[in-house]
Amino acid sequence: MSILDLWLQKGDNVVTSDSYSDFFIMTHHIRTRFAPSPTGFLHVGGLRTALYSYLFAKKRGGDFVLRIEDTDQKRLVSGAIEGLLSVLETVGLRCDEGLTLREGICEQHGDHGPYIQSERLPLYQKYANELVSRGLAYHCFCTADRLTEMREIQIAAKRAPRYDRHCLTLSQEEVEARQNSGEASVIRFRIPDDRDIEFTDLIRGTVRFHTRDMDDQVIIKSDGFPTYHLAVVVDDHLMEITHVIRGEEWLPSTPKHILIYEAFGWQATEFGHLPLLLNPDKSKLSKRQGDVAVEDYLAKGYLKEALINFVALLGWNPGKGETQEIFTLTELVEKFDLEKVNKAGAVFDIKKLDWMNAEYIKRMDIDTLFAQLREGHFFEKELIRQAPDFMQTDIFLKRVLTIEQDRLAKLSEFGEQNPFFFSQHIEYDNELLRWKDNSLDSARSALKQALTILTDADESLWNEHSQLEKILLEAAGEKRGDFLWPLRVALSGAQRSPSPFDCAWVLGKDMTLERIHMAIRKSPTE
Ligand code: GLU
Repeated sequence: MSILDLWLQKGDNVVTSDSYSDFFIMTHHIRTRFAPSPTGFLHVGGLRTALYSYLFAKKRGGDFVLRIEDTDQKRLVSGAIEGLLSVLETVGLRCDEGLTLREGICEQHGDHGPYIQSERLPLYQKYANELVSRGLAYHCFCTADRLTEMREIQIAAKRAPRYDRHCLTLSQEEVEARQNSGEASVIRFRIPDDRDIEFTDLIRGTVRFHTRDMDDQVIIKSDGFPTYHLAVVVDDHLMEITHVIRGEEWLPSTPKHILIYEAFGWQATEFGHLPLLLNPDKSKLSKRQGDVAVEDYLAKGYLKEALINFVALLGWNPGKGETQEIFTLTELVEKFDLEKVNKAGAVFDIKKLDWMNAEYIKRMDIDTLFAQLREGHFFEKELIRQAPDFMQTDIFLKRVLTIEQDRLAKLSEFGEQNPFFFSQHIEYDNELLRWKDNSLDSARSALKQALTILTDADESLWNEHSQLEKILLEAAGEKRGDFLWPLRVALSGAQRSPSPFDCAWVLGKDMTLERIHMAIRKSPTE
C-alpha cells in the first residue's frame, strides 16, 4: 500500500500538503543526504546545505548520508573529496552512511554503496536503457555544431532555444548502425508534452513548472557517464532518501527529476530548496567580496562551533519571540525545522560571525582554548617567533591568552593587540607616562614606589593574578590613575593595553622590574 493510500485511509477531512508531509515523516525512517561535487573547496552555502540536511535527519532519529557526485569529470579537482570530508568531520557533521576519512584516506561504509557516482556507472546505464526500451528516452547523435546552429536559428527567430527532437524518431536499426560505425551519441529523456508539474516544496510551498519550458534532457553523455539529473534520481531512490534539501539553484531541475521518478514509477522524495546566501549589498555571495571556503574560516581561527551556529542562522531562526542566538549542535538538532527557514535570501554578515566567534571564545575553558590555538598553529607567527625564548613557552603564551580571551574575535588575532608582550625592548614616548595633567615627576615617583613594592615581593606573587592585583591596588590607594597609569605604560609602552596587573602577571617578575627601571630612566627629574 502506498503512503498516499495509508494517508487517505487515515480519514483526515481536511487534506493539506502539511498534514501529508507530517504524516509522511511519522511513517517513514527519515534519510537525508548531502551530495557535493568534488570540484573544489566546501563553500559556506554547501556547509549550510549539509548542516540543514543533518539537523533535519537527526531531529527525527534518521540517517544522514554523504554521497559524492562526480559525474562531470571535466570539473573534478584532485584532493577535493578528502578536503570536503575533512572539513565536514572537523565541524562535526559525520555521516551515518557514505564516506569518512581514516588517516587521510577516504573510506566508504553503509548498505547502499558505492557512494561515489563514478563507481556506479553500470547502474545508470541499466536504468537509462530501461527508459529507452520503454520509449521514454532516445539516442541522439546530434553533434555540438548542429546543436549550436539549431540554437542560433531559434534565437534569430526569437524562439526559446530548445532541442528540436531531430533524433526522436530514429529507428532502432538506424541507432544500432550508427553506434556500430562508432558515431558518438547521448541518451535524452523525453519530456512529456504540455504538462504542468506541481510539487510542494518544504520551504517555498507550491511550485509549478510547465513542460513547454523544458528541454529533452540528456541523461547519459557521450562518454557513458550519466548527467546529474539521472544520477541524482537513481541514487536518491536506491539510497532510500526521503528528503532532499539543497540550494535554490537546483529548483528548476526538480520538475525534471519528478518526471524521471514518474517514468520509473518511483515515489519522488520530498524537496526543500534553501534560499541564496547574499553579500551585505544583497548580491549573490561570491569570492570577490570575501572568503567563501569553509576551510578559510577555520584557518583564520573561527571555531567550528561558532561557524556551525552562525551558518545555522543563515536563513533559519528558532521562531518568533525567541531571542537565543547561541546554540550547540545538540540544541540545533532539537530546535531546527525547515518550516522556519525563510524563503528570502540570507545575508552573510561577517560582523555577526566575529561577534559569535568571540562569544564562543569567551565561554571556552582556557586549556581547551590553548590546545585549539596550538593545534591550529596559531602560535606559529612572526610576532612570537622573534620573541625571546621565555616569551615562547607554554606558560607565557597561556597567560597572554588568559588576558586576551575576552577580546579575541578569532584565534588568528592572538597577540596582535598586545605586541609588547613579545618584545624584549619596547619603544614609547616618555610623555605617555604622564597621567592626565600630572608631571613626569609624579609618574617617576609612582614608578619608584611600584618598583620598591614589586622588588620586595616574593616571586610567588606572580603565580596569583589576584594577589598581584590586590597588592598594587593597595599601593594605588585613592588616586588610582596617578599610580596605575604610569605603571601600565611602563609595562606596555602603549596608549591602550590590558591593566597593569595583567601586564605584570604575564611578564613575570624580572621583566616587570626591568620595564619599570627603564621607564624611570625615561622620566628624569624635571
Ligand atoms: N552535486 C550537486 C552539488 O554539488 C548536488 C545537488 C543536489 O543536492 O541535488 O551541488
